[in-house]
Amino acid sequence: MRKKIIKDAHVAVFKNNKFELLNNFSILINNNLIEKIDKFENLDSNNAYIINAKDKIAIPGLINTHHHLSQSLTRGMINVQNSKLFDWLVNLYKVWKNLSYEALYISSLVSLTEMAVYGCTTSTDMCYLFPQNSDAKLDAVIQAAQELGIRFHAGRGSMSLGESKGGLPPDINTQDEKTIIKDCLRVIESYHDKRKFSMLRIDLAPCAPFSVSKDLMLEIRNIAKDNNLLCHTHLAETLDEEVYCLEKYNCRPVKFLQDLNWLGNDVYLAHCVHLNQDEIKLFAKTNTSVAHCPSSNMRLGSGIPPIIEMLNENVNVAIGVDGSSSNDSGNILNEVKMAMYLQRVKHGASCMNVSDALKLGTINGAKLLNRSDELGNIEEGKAADISIFNLKTLEHAGAYSQDPLGALVLCNPNRADTVIVNGEIIVDNKIPVKVDIEKISHKLNEIVKDKFMPDLSNIT
Ligand SMILES: [Zn+2]
Repeated sequence: MRKKIIKDAHVAVFKNNKFELLNNFSILINNNLIEKIDKFENLDSNNAYIINAKDKIAIPGLINTHHHLSQSLTRGMINVQNSKLFDWLVNLYKVWKNLSYEALYISSLVSLTEMAVYGCTTSTDMCYLFPQNSDAKLDAVIQAAQELGIRFHAGRGSMSLGESKGGLPPDINTQDEKTIIKDCLRVIESYHDKRKFSMLRIDLAPCAPFSVSKDLMLEIRNIAKDNNLLCHTHLAETLDEEVYCLEKYNCRPVKFLQDLNWLGNDVYLAHCVHLNQDEIKLFAKTNTSVAHCPSSNMRLGSGIPPIIEMLNENVNVAIGVDGSSSNDSGNILNEVKMAMYLQRVKHGASCMNVSDALKLGTINGAKLLNRSDELGNIEEGKAADISIFNLKTLEHAGAYSQDPLGALVLCNPNRADTVIVNGEIIVDNKIPVKVDIEKISHKLNEIVKDKFMPDLSNIT
């Protein structure tokens, strides 16, 4: 791979527990790694491909820790625009049963590309929809990630507890537990790359306490331990879930997980809106990470998660955009801003600053994935995952002269000019290199018109 130099940028580096800017600095990328950060004249520029970054800011590639890539198929769906989680799910399940391999692949490509153009370089996914009689497989999301060139943790999700067994999803959207386990083992064997700087790992990600049985949670946890994989699930997203757990399991959601040995530094939990102080302390003690999805929590009216309380107890909190059916956007930079704003609603304007917010989207994401030595910062020896944003724009005018980092996080979050993953440019001049945006957007709209429109005839 040809070496590259990002020339004369404002380089955001995390040092002494905060982001600092190295102004007019350059970054030498050799193969897939950051080799040196210095003034341009001190770097060996022989045969290097030069990326001119004057008036631009280079930040560590953003890390998304919670998504459902299939949900671009039901983005903005008309009959659930004003619904809370359980009602939203019940209506979405009705069209999600139409998921096919092709629909999952196109939706994943759209969702991932949208994230990449806004500066995301690593994403997770929780893919839990494998309807009966469908050819949808995890391979479809992996195919999309590989085509785009994003670093990826493919979460093999699952739902086994259908309505007939007291769960929330209709039976048609669930799989039997033997099939789920067999497929988890298949995708681990076929795809999981445990090496340092891996571009593809498999996480195990059963959906939630209300759609998976205790037995399956336990068995998946054991498989993850045997293979050194990360585990991921939704937790304490709504008060409805708390009521469900109290009625069905006679305990709160966190206790449900604790009893299944589902806490630890190899577990990351989405949402965690409704935690008490003891539960926060338990997360700290067990090094369990949280994927915070502020826009989704606001869109579904789920509540304000106790993020400041968690950070005060040293719980690791990272950022997730969540699926596009509860966010309607895959702009992770906007999510960083929303995380900061949502906490300010509860705790006041000084509770989280720009640097703290950006840390959630970078350093803490790497920590959640147990990849702090590879990802999350612009540092010599780390992976060359870097996003570069132009600040000489209408949206940043005024703020750029004051504070380039503040301008990036506070102003309207625009598309990145250049996105580099593992040393490869995957977005160049705001355009993805390997994916045709117009073509995939058109295709997705066609698939939605054909198979994913809700039946509105029963709406009163
Ligand atoms: Zn989710």
